[in-house]
Amino acid sequence: MYKNPTLEAAAIAAIRLDEPRALLDRFVTLVRESGTADEEAAGRYLVDRLTALGVPVTLHAPELYISNPVRAELSIAGPGGDRVLPARPPAMARSTGDDAVSGEIVYVPSKYAGGTASLFDLPDAARGGGADDPVRGRIVLTEGFSMPAAVGAFERRGAIGEIFIHPGHNVHEGICTSIWGAPTAESLGRKPTVPVVCINHPDGEQLIADLQRGPARASIKTWLREGWMRCLLPVVDIRGQEDPEEFLLVHGHYDSWYEGIGDNATGDAALLELARVMWGLRDRLKRSVRIAWWPGHSTGRYAGSTWYADTFAGEIDEHCIAQLDIDSPGCEGATAYEEVMWMAEADGLCRTAIQDALGLPSERVRPLRAGDYSFNQIGPTGLYMLLSNIPIEERKRRGYYAVGGCGGNIAWHTPDDLMPVADLEILRNDLKVYLTTIVRILNAPLHPFDYTAAIDEVRAAVARYHDAAAGEVDFAPLLADLDAAASACAEWRARADAAVGAAGAEERRRLNGVLRRVARLLVPLNYARGERFDHDPALKFGAVPRLEAAAGLAAAPAELRPFIKVGLVRELNKARATVRALRRELA
Ligand SMILES: [Zn+2]
Repeated sequence: MYKNPTLEAAAIAAIRLDEPRALLDRFVTLVRESGTADEEAAGRYLVDRLTALGVPVTLHAPELYISNPVRAELSIAGPGGDRVLPARPPAMARSTGDDAVSGEIVYVPSKYAGGTASLFDLPDAARGGGADDPVRGRIVLTEGFSMPAAVGAFERRGAIGEIFIHPGHNVHEGICTSIWGAPTAESLGRKPTVPVVCINHPDGEQLIADLQRGPARASIKTWLREGWMRCLLPVVDIRGQEDPEEFLLVHGHYDSWYEGIGDNATGDAALLELARVMWGLRDRLKRSVRIAWWPGHSTGRYAGSTWYADTFAGEIDEHCIAQLDIDSPGCEGATAYEEVMWMAEADGLCRTAIQDALGLPSERVRPLRAGDYSFNQIGPTGLYMLLSNIPIEERKRRGYYAVGGCGGNIAWHTPDDLMPVADLEILRNDLKVYLTTIVRILNAPLHPFDYTAAIDEVRAAVARYHDAAAGEVDFAPLLADLDAAASACAEWRARADAAVGAAGAEERRRLNGVLRRVARLLVPLNYARGERFDHDPALKFGAVPRLEAAAGLAAAPAELRPFIKVGLVRELNKARATVRALRRELA
């Protein structure tokens, strides 16, 4: 593993906390909902500080498709008496305005997510259907966050409205569409067409108790402000000295729910400090680093990063070394690195960077189809998203349930996400991890990613599908292709590592070009269901998602199975063509 102790020490020694502190002080006064004056003020603040620090910044101003929840009214009539419950609509749900949707409530019990990694799972409660489905024509009441898989499944079952009971005293804001970034004419049909509201746990428990005594009716009104909104998107580009075309994209969102200190003002502060430190070291950086602050993450389903992926697709395809996402670092009590996302090929780099920067072990989680990972279908390797967390044991002790940020603090996506959620000394730790990782990516002679590990991960998934398909679809030829590709990749890397020291600039660039093209084949194969340059829905996928139907083959109805097999054979052909292209690249 490439290391550069002198440069890493200089980068870490350069960390200061005054810019991060000042940013938090400013951002705690701003409710950074996309398309609003407060978000614009935050964007301007970033530009002003970068300019004051002498760091050149480009300010884009895209029109993004945003849905800002305004308010909801939930009226209940039933055995517990008539009352109005406090409720919040998630972004991208239907806005009814004054046209209430009313109906009988049907309770469908569900379990809360066991951990952050299962937040995007489809709960069993959302499975069902048919003409006699009790959900049809009724308003469903269930537990959990209003995640897209559950909202979409209940809608398909014929629910006319949906009420989600959150696990705590606060209702957490969220977004319920699976559409990633701005909708296309085709994907627009996936936008939820029913009103959705979220209520807190005590109100939900009361409502469930009422329903045990007799039927109850609900009337839902929702107001959301939706449309194309102009948002600011600042990007810093610090050019490298040797291979300036090649760049690492370091990014995070600056829009927020409420004042959003832990999610994601601390991340914005980290990005600003990284820009300052990297600018100071620019004469010693071999490759370029781009630092981007996204709008539209919370109420546009990653609309800012998706816009950037669409608009700069060619540059990202050709020259992007990797993308590093920064969300919710630097939170109070977050001393553990036991649930950190990175792709398999970045395992050595990330694990070693955390160990070297802090002397701490870490545990990898395969990146979810979430966060600002809007680049998987172009194909740069992705690393990090959330980073440090409150240790799992401590979260249990505090009685916390699973959330998707703030270091695991349940202030996440609520009005409680204020200054006490942040801890600048923990942000310093996270900055050490980021800088160690970034310096190694920028200055390693060869991109520090082990694509043999990615092929192994793909192979392991295909082997599982092969077993699950139990002779109905034969994945053995693909497994053989992958074995050959893994050997070719390991040999290629060993030769390249031995040759790069004596190689000239042209040869070094050629070798790294091969690594990036290998990533362009492997990342979509491992992570994408749809085409390259497209954006898959925000749903839970397994590894090699195009072949995932094999896992459900045995349990599928007998009359459906032949159709599933036809689809799997076609996907198998595509996968084999991808692996052939991979082997040609490495030949
Ligand atoms: Zn976030």
